[in-house]
Amino acid sequence: MIPISEPFLFKDEKKYVHECIQTGWISSQGKYIKKFEDDFSEYHNTKYCIAVSNCTVALQLALMGLDIGSGDEVICPALTFISPANMILHVGAKLVLVDVNKNDLNINVDYIESKITRKTKAIIAVHQFGSPANMKKICRIAKKHKLFVIEDNAESIGSSIGGKLTGTFGDIATYSFFGNKIISTGEGGMLIVKSKKIFNKIKLLRDHGLIDKEKYIHSRIGFNFRMTNMQAALGCGQLKNLNKILDKKKTIFENYSKFLKNNKYINILPLKTEKEYKCVTWLFTIYIKKINKKNRELLINNMKKNGIDCRRMIRPVADAYHIRNLQSVSHFDVADDFSYKSIHLPSSFNITLEQIKFIAKCLNKELKNIFEK
Ligand SMILES: *Cc1c(COP(=O)(O)O)cnc(C)c1O
Repeated sequence: MIPISEPFLFKDEKKYVHECIQTGWISSQGKYIKKFEDDFSEYHNTKYCIAVSNCTVALQLALMGLDIGSGDEVICPALTFISPANMILHVGAKLVLVDVNKNDLNINVDYIESKITRKTKAIIAVHQFGSPANMKKICRIAKKHKLFVIEDNAESIGSSIGGKLTGTFGDIATYSFFGNKIISTGEGGMLIVKSKKIFNKIKLLRDHGLIDKEKYIHSRIGFNFRMTNMQAALGCGQLKNLNKILDKKKTIFENYSKFLKNNKYINILPLKTEKEYKCVTWLFTIYIKKINKKNRELLINNMKKNGIDCRRMIRPVADAYHIRNLQSVSHFDVADDFSYKSIHLPSSFNITLEQIKFIAKCLNKELKNIFEK
């Protein structure tokens, strides 16, 4: 089976992890945690980074760091992996969903202001599938209404707007290093925090509110959301090779685009975005214009029979059982339509040109069968 997206480890990762094992520094102390945070800061040209266990807890810490909770409202795209929505609910705030754009599946900034009330505290902008959200507009709206901005950049590390990296626009940005993400530490996450004060608060929340390790002095309620030195060692190696990974992913995108160029049944996502928006490729994504749910299942099954692991796009947030009942509006035109008509194609770092050619050939054939028989 050609996998959807598997991690690729370079020599650096192996060397660094081996060192952790040889020296015994395998837990959440050791030089690689600080190095990963420092390297991450350097790459993004920011000051304050915090390594954590995964992106979901990074989002929880971001909301808690900004004192968001019961009685507050937070704006979130109607189409995203469930984490940001779940964490908004988890801290006790109200989840306010906003539909997404057709061209890049990012939050539709034209709808945001109509959802702002006196209780709104923050906007979570998810940079979707490698495409930057419209941060200029989002930050302008946030400034006008005195809201915080959290960028969930789990899927789009390395993308930029006008040369400025995503993750550096808002008050806080969060990252995931899960196995299928652009860079991976197995499980893992990171926060970029703009304010030093909030940075210090989140660092305490990460580690039991501990201010004196030797004397066991705790200053506040907290968690254990630490990353291990071994994960950070992986992260250092992956980050060192990030440009290599992004270059290869770009080639994957270009090759798929070339072989699918004449397929009239699909749109390749993102559709044209503004020139200053530099996208990266996480998973190669297509929207199948006229497919119905039954035929999409058929397509995915037939691709599987050919040894190709295609994936359905995530479902709209409002589809989740625990969210359905909360929403006064549960239908979002674009989120609903794109969710059920889109699929991702295998996009691992080590996929070969031959494999891409084969996948495109199968896809062209299957779609022809579906629409022309
Ligand atoms: C993967 C992902 C997450 C969750 O990341 P974990 O590290 O698995 O917790 C959150 N948000 C988005 C947008 C994601 O794609």
